[in-house]
Amino acid sequence: MSGFLSPKYGGLLPYVPGEQLSDKKYVKLNTNESPFPPSKKAKKLAKQSVKRLMLYSDPECKALVSEFAKYYGVKPSQLIFTNGSDEVLNFAFMAYCDGETKAVFPDITYGFYPVFAEINCVDYKEIPLKDDFTIDINDYFNADGTIFIANPNAPTGIVLSLDEIEKILINNPKNVVVIDEAYVDFGNQSAVKLIDKYDNLLVTQTFSKSRSLAGARLGVGIANEKLIEDLVKIKYSTNPYNVNAMTMSAGLGAVLDDKYFKRNCAEIIKNREYTKNALIELGFTVTNSTANFIFAKNAKISGEELYLKLKDKGVLVRHFGKEKIKDYIRITIGDKKQMDTLIVAIKQILEEL
Ligand code: PMP
Repeated sequence: MSGFLSPKYGGLLPYVPGEQLSDKKYVKLNTNESPFPPSKKAKKLAKQSVKRLMLYSDPECKALVSEFAKYYGVKPSQLIFTNGSDEVLNFAFMAYCDGETKAVFPDITYGFYPVFAEINCVDYKEIPLKDDFTIDINDYFNADGTIFIANPNAPTGIVLSLDEIEKILINNPKNVVVIDEAYVDFGNQSAVKLIDKYDNLLVTQTFSKSRSLAGARLGVGIANEKLIEDLVKIKYSTNPYNVNAMTMSAGLGAVLDDKYFKRNCAEIIKNREYTKNALIELGFTVTNSTANFIFAKNAKISGEELYLKLKDKGVLVRHFGKEKIKDYIRITIGDKKQMDTLIVAIKQILEEL
C-alpha cells in the first residue's frame, strides 16, 4: 500500500475471486461458469461489432434493451445493463445505502456484498441463516436497511419461493429489496414478474452463468422506472459506456438464441441431479441446490482437505474458510464428462483415506 491511498480504504478487504490457475490443465468447477461456449449468434454478432470499435458503445444499449424487454415482457425503461451484475449490485449499494441506511443480507451469501458495503463506507448487518442454511423470512421484515438476497443463495444454492419474496417486499415498504438472480435460470421462477406490483423491488441478473458470457461481463437490473432512473443516474456519473460494444452484441446474440440457452440450462439441471445423487451415494450431505453448483460435505474428510486433494488430481472446486461452512465444498456443474471426472476423483480420494 502506498502512503497516498485514502485512509478510508486502508482496511478494505477486497473480494477474492475463484482461482484462475494455469500451471496445468484443470477440470474447472470453481467459479460457476458455463461449460458450454457462447451461442453461435453471440459469436457472430460480437465479431461483426469489431469493425465499429472506433466508436463509443451505445450508452443506452438500445438493441439489447429492446430484445431483453421483449423476452421478459417488461418496458425498456425498466432495464439497465451493466458491466457484469457486480456493477449493478455496486450501483445499488451506492444508490440505496449510506450513513443512515445500512445494507442487510444473510451471514452466508455472495462474498461481494460486504465488500460493496465497505468500499461505499456503509454499515452492514449480517442475518444468520438457520442451521439448515435456509433463510427465515421473518428476520427480514421491516429490516433496518436495504436488503440484498441472492436467490438462489450462494454458495448453498437454496431458493426462496416467490411467495416468500413477496412477503419480504410487503413487509419492507420503506426499504429497497434487491433480489440477486445470478442463478435463477437453473429451474427457478424469477421475481421479475413482481416489479410492477412493488416499487421497492430491484432484480439483478447476469449473462455470466446460463448465457455463457462470464468473460464478456454483462449484467442487468430490472425494476420499476423510478429505481432504474436512480441507477442510470449513477451509471452516467461513473461510466456511461460501461458495457462495451462487443459485449453488447454478444449479449444480444445470446438473448436471440433462446433455444441454445434453454437446452444448456436443461443440461445443467440434469447434470446437477446426476452429480447430487452420485455424491449422496458416496455418503455426502448435499444441500437442495437449484443453481448451477452444489454444496456438499462428507463426514470422512474436511472441506479443505477434499478441495486440496481434488486440486492435486486436477479438479478445481471452491472451499470457503468461514466457520459455519468450512466442512463444505462448492462444485460448479459442468458437462457430463467433467462431472464423471469429478466423481471418479472423489471416489479415489475416499478410498485412499
Ligand atoms: N451474484 C452472485 C450471487 C454471484 O455468485 C455472482 C458471480 N460471482 C455475481 C452476482 C456476479 O456475477 P457477474 O458480475 O459475473 O455478473
